[in-house]
Amino acid sequence: MTRIILTGAKGRMGTAVRTCIRSYSDLELVAEIDLGDDLAAHIARGDVVVDFSVHTATVPILECCAAHGKPAVVGTTGHSEAERKRIKELTQRIPVVLAPNFSAGVNALFWLVRKAAEILGPDFDLEIVEMHHRLKKDAPSGTAKALAEILAETRGLNLEAAARHGRVGIVGERPKAEIGIHAVRGGDIVGTHTVIFAGNGERLELTHHATSRDTFAHGALRAARWVIGKSPGLYDMRDVLGLRSA
Ligand code: NAD
Repeated sequence: MTRIILTGAKGRMGTAVRTCIRSYSDLELVAEIDLGDDLAAHIARGDVVVDFSVHTATVPILECCAAHGKPAVVGTTGHSEAERKRIKELTQRIPVVLAPNFSAGVNALFWLVRKAAEILGPDFDLEIVEMHHRLKKDAPSGTAKALAEILAETRGLNLEAAARHGRVGIVGERPKAEIGIHAVRGGDIVGTHTVIFAGNGERLELTHHATSRDTFAHGALRAARWVIGKSPGLYDMRDVLGLRSA
């Protein structure tokens, strides 16, 4: 039996994870932690911590995991540069799976986007459009950022210089070394990501639609089973799905 501690338990993803755990006979939810609860008081009871909270909470949560030698799965997005750096430091002490998106379809999209960028080459303009529900706090989404990183890496671009977050006014002609990133917010959209490769006379669009949070929850629980017993380090869904060398 794998004993899970959930942080961000009262949120949308926390609710989905709680429901999905019930469908597995080998998983048990032993503690539900939300704002104001003391993780340290409960952590000894669990085998792994699953975090879907808010970016500012992840570092203290992982510090507690490191102090108690517990592995973790982090689905929370929107971390600052300083938070990312501290997360990386903490993974020298414990194994952590950090993924902006736990769905199998989005991880296939990551792979396809890299391949398409390699095949189509520098003549195709790159744009990313993501859509989420009106309550989402960070923008662009962690998944859109991961897609932009894949495109920048494949093209040999510095993402900080290449990223163009929306356009307004007299913006002039589009430079080649640009990756457009656009965040749409509204209603109850669970998550849609489109990568556009726009060339002369043709356009390729790769789109993933998430229609239920359960897909993220099941992926995170798969990562929770996988991360137990791994060496300290920072892992992502490519490791969990065995796609690292694909
Ligand atoms: P939400 O706002 O519904 O829930 C967040 C919860 O975290 C709230 O209940 C809040 O009270 C709680 N919280 C705040 N501070 C806390 C703390 N210090 N300790 C413990 N809990 C705390 O948000 P959501 O839609 O459930 O999303 C949560 C996070 O997961 C976001 O960063 C979102 O982008 C991300 N997300 C990731 C994936 C993925 O596949 N990786 C999928 C969906 C959402």
